[in-house]
Amino acid sequence: MTTGVSLTDGGLLCERGGFSVDPWKPVQRAVITHVHSDHAREGSGEYYCSSESVELMKRRIGPDARVHGVAYGEKFILGEAAVSFHPAGHILGSSQVRIEVGGEVWVVSGDYKRDPDPTCLPFEVVLCDHFITEATFALPIYQWDPTEEVARQIHEWWMQNRTDGKASVLFCYSLGKAQRVLAELLRFTDETVYTHGATENLTDAYRKAGVQMVSTQRVGEVTGTKKSYVGDLILAPPGSRRVSLDEALWGL
Ligand SMILES: [Zn+2]
Repeated sequence: MTTGVSLTDGGLLCERGGFSVDPWKPVQRAVITHVHSDHAREGSGEYYCSSESVELMKRRIGPDARVHGVAYGEKFILGEAAVSFHPAGHILGSSQVRIEVGGEVWVVSGDYKRDPDPTCLPFEVVLCDHFITEATFALPIYQWDPTEEVARQIHEWWMQNRTDGKASVLFCYSLGKAQRVLAELLRFTDETVYTHGATENLTDAYRKAGVQMVSTQRVGEVTGTKKSYVGDLILAPPGSRRVSLDEALWGL
């Protein structure tokens, strides 16, 4: 008998269910933990993910992808496997995948965190026989300040830059991190934050999902001639650092 989930050169395969979890190569049937690009890749025949991930999948993978959204906790059958998604607390829609096959329960965590995050449901403990976990920051050297403290520091830095007559540009991933910053900033301000186009597109999906954040406006969409961003906060993806700031903010 094959095991419930095994590692292949294309990623984690559930052979008896006829699907792969977050496959590295295109497959017929992919089960997706969350929409970050190292987990959700284009080219597969069809995708299963949490209902909250569907809109993000369409915006990231493409509007024509065959994407099936399933509510958290709802079991669905693929081959010989009963599958369900459970909140992972990482980004909107992020899931642990519970796979019940041959009388055993496997859980694939994807990325997860146990700290509070206003942009997604909290991590859920799921009983299982086998737990396959990602552990990017599991080493004890990684100790983070409380989220509220980090958000307060960002706001103070922004306000100090304003006093100094500067614009503030904060580089953060366009999916997940940016929206968490925007949600956490609500503790301190309701001012509009300006966003890079890639960030704004995904922020719009979060807003449609009901996530509360400070208001945002895409950089460059301000009517009239080039706006001076002195005193403003701009969120942009880390990749935009590779080009000149002017190009990053105005050219995309
Ligand atoms: Zn991730």
